[in-house]
Amino acid sequence: MVAASQHPNITLMTYSEVEEVGGYVGNFRVKIRQKAKSVNHDLCTGCGICWEKCPNTILNEYNQGLNLRKAIYIRFPQAVPNKPVIDRENCRQFQMDGKCGVCKEVCQAGAIDYEQQDLILEEEFGSIVVATGFDLFAWEKAYGEYGYGKYPDVISGLQFERMSNSSGPTEGKILRPSDGKEPQRVVFIKCVGSRDDAKGKSYCSKVCCMYTAKHAHQVLEKIEGSEVYVFYIDVRTPGKGYEEFYRHSLEEGALYIRGRVSNIIPKNSSLIVRGEDTLLGRQVEVEADLVVLATAMTPSYGSDAVARMIGIGTDKDGFFEEAHPKLRPVECHTAGVYLAGTCQGVKDIPDTVSQASGSAVKVCALFSVDERELDPLTSSVNESICSGCSTCVLVCPFKAIEIKTVTERFYGQTLQRQVAAVNEALCQGCGTCTAACRSGAINLKGFTNEQILAEVKAACL
Ligand SMILES: Cc1cc2nc3c(=O)[nH]c(=O)nc-3n(C[C@H](O)[C@H](O)[C@H](O)COP(=O)(O)OP(=O)(O)OC[C@H]3O[C@@H](n4cnc5c(N)ncnc54)[C@H](O)[C@@H]3O)c2cc1C
Repeated sequence: MVAASQHPNITLMTYSEVEEVGGYVGNFRVKIRQKAKSVNHDLCTGCGICWEKCPNTILNEYNQGLNLRKAIYIRFPQAVPNKPVIDRENCRQFQMDGKCGVCKEVCQAGAIDYEQQDLILEEEFGSIVVATGFDLFAWEKAYGEYGYGKYPDVISGLQFERMSNSSGPTEGKILRPSDGKEPQRVVFIKCVGSRDDAKGKSYCSKVCCMYTAKHAHQVLEKIEGSEVYVFYIDVRTPGKGYEEFYRHSLEEGALYIRGRVSNIIPKNSSLIVRGEDTLLGRQVEVEADLVVLATAMTPSYGSDAVARMIGIGTDKDGFFEEAHPKLRPVECHTAGVYLAGTCQGVKDIPDTVSQASGSAVKVCALFSVDERELDPLTSSVNESICSGCSTCVLVCPFKAIEIKTVTERFYGQTLQRQVAAVNEALCQGCGTCTAACRSGAINLKGFTNEQILAEVKAACL
């Protein structure tokens, strides 16, 4: 992040959201909302007195709710710039008609600015790389038998990540959320929501086997005399050095039990994890101080809106669709739009970095020429019979059609009417519009209705 912020050709827009995308390859027009930080970052020294004194505390989203943060806060350690913003939805000054003002009173630099407004910026870009990432499958409702909300010592893998991180809420110590004690027996449950047609997602989340092996290793290394049990369906380790790492966790003492967990019940201050061992063919019960769920990865919340805004297709699970799984894995169907990371499908960091590098090179290649060759198989409108009904505009997945006004002479009179117009730079020749047009006014070049019918006739002769 620091390197990116210091690069002369990179403009880092923090606390900002893309609101609208128009135009096409080489000429994307993007509307960006730069949200009001309520802190003047030119004046702020990042001294920290404001969040020390802020009276309002909220669950810390970055630490997955494992600790609290203030209403004026820096979202994560090593943020760039390392200066706070005010979360207006949780700030007393904004929610209680100005009846607080503590941060403003204590700020020596005079940086607090409650009047700051959102800024709307309009910028032009030649290309777009989408990297909106993933979120975790909401297991809470689907797997009620694992005790969400009832047992604080059942946590997600991401909560474990924050806990075992030295900049996390426990400074790297693995502790039970219920009483802050070090757990002696830790149970990991894999495939919570993955490979589960009935309650979750049918796909494999790919990274859980390896991060669970990492978590098992961390417990065994950090807590002396600890025991680790891992419930699994299969162990999948396709990656350089991955199988060796998994085997290392076995050698360290992690005990793998092949089978799903049916439920978790409390017993005094610990939990009983009930499941089946499909290799031994019998029910098993393991007493645990802490249970960690390896939950499925899903497209990030809001990525459907991003897809609609940019005109990207999605697959059945909501991940952004690449133009071709083998030959064009980083490109979208929309020219000039590229994908990086888990927004396109589940993957780990090395795969994410590889794909992001591929996208960056594609952008460089795009910008290295003055002219682009377009696929000639685009749609074209027969304006004389187009009724301007907009059906094609609504169905076009690439936002390639718009309605324009044409002026015509009719029996000596000048008339204006609306017709569809195809932007050939955006059209990918998918043919959706031709199938939807009720008046048969849109055709794919070289594949008009007459030409296709003639081919069918000839084939049936
Ligand atoms: C518990 C756990 C442990 C893991 N451990 C490992 C590991 O040890 N090694 C490994 O290789 N992989 C690991 N992974 C996988 C790794 O986290 C992912 O491969 C990696 O984070 C993917 O990077 P990404 O950039 O695609 O997505 P993300 O890391 O999700 O980043 C996407 C970013 O985009 C932002 N964003 C989303 N929508 C918008 C929007 N509309 N506008 C602006 N910004 C937006 C998000 O806030 C986020 O910052 C683990 C995953 C989990 C769940």
